[in-house]
Amino acid sequence: MELVFPLEMPTLAIVGRNARFPVRRIYCVGRNYVEHIREMKEGDERDPPFFFQKPSDAIVSEGAVVPYPPFTEDFQFEAELVVAIGKEARNVSVGEALDAVFGYAAGVDLTRRDRQKESFKKGLPWEIGKSFDNSAPCGPIHTVADAGHRLKGTIAISVNGETRQNGDLEQMIWNTPEIVAKLSEQYTLMPGDIIMTGTPAGVGPIKPDDKLVVDIEGLEPFSFSIGARED
Ligand code: MN
Repeated sequence: MELVFPLEMPTLAIVGRNARFPVRRIYCVGRNYVEHIREMKEGDERDPPFFFQKPSDAIVSEGAVVPYPPFTEDFQFEAELVVAIGKEARNVSVGEALDAVFGYAAGVDLTRRDRQKESFKKGLPWEIGKSFDNSAPCGPIHTVADAGHRLKGTIAISVNGETRQNGDLEQMIWNTPEIVAKLSEQYTLMPGDIIMTGTPAGVGPIKPDDKLVVDIEGLEPFSFSIGARED
C-alpha cells in the first residue's frame, strides 16, 4: 500500500528478543487502589472500574527525556503495572482472561493533575489531563514465559532517588484477570493492546530535570527523565 507520507508505528522492546511489540491501543484503569482513591478525595471506593485511553503514539521508552508539557502547572506521575495483550479477547471470563496476556511492563500514567481535576468537577472528558503527547512512558515487556504472571509483588517509583510510591500489586481493587475480563465486555481486545492497571497511593508532582525509576518486583527497573518546559 502506498501512503502519502510515512507514519511510524509505536512499539515496545521485549526483554530477551529482537522483535518488538507493536502498540495498537493504550487502555488505562482509573481508581484501582483504595489508598489512591482516598488521597484523591474523588470517587467512591465501591465503584466498578472505569477505563480511559491514551493515544498509542504517547508511548515513551526507556531512557527517554519527556518534555514538561504545556497546559499544566501540576504535572504528576502515577506508577502502574502494564499488561500487554497477545491474543484477541472478547467477553472472556475471569478464568480465561490470563490466556490473552502476552507479558508485563512497568509504566507511568503521566497526568496533568490540574486539568484532570477541572474535568472531573465540570463533568468533561479527561483527554486534556490524561491523553496528551508523551503521556505513556512504558518499559520493555517481559513475556509471561520469562517472568510469569505479575499478580503480586512490590510496585514502587522513585524521583531523584527518593521513593515516592511504594505499594503491592495485591492491593489492586480489580486484579489483572478481572480488568481484562471487564474490558473485554466493552471492547474487543486485540494483540498489541496494552493496559495501564492503576496506581497506588503517593502520586505527586514532577519538574524539569527529575529522574524517575519505576520498580516492579520481577521486572527490570524502567527509567526516564523530565526535560525543559515545552511551551
Ligand atoms: Mn492512572
